[in-house]
Amino acid sequence: MAYIIEADSCTACAACADVCPSGAISVAKSGANYVIDAEKCVDCAACESGCPSGAIKAGA
Ligand code: SF4
Ligand code: SF4
Repeated sequence: MAYIIEADSCTACAACADVCPSGAISVAKSGANYVIDAEKCVDCAACESGCPSGAIKAGA
């Protein structure tokens, strides 16, 4: 499992990248939103609770 960011809801505020302990979150190539690298995500959920837009969900 890994957390995912819903691109349509993400406002690129960077709050999630600041709280991620594993450096899994970075700006998407488009620059319009952030993305999570599933291989680096350790499922801590810090980003989910830290996102002001509710854009981050637990993945399948
Ligand atoms: S905290 Fe939420 S709105 Fe902000 S960059 Fe991360 S996913 Fe996007
Ligand atoms: S769940 Fe934790 S490790 Fe995974 S992207 Fe969010 S803050 Fe980073």
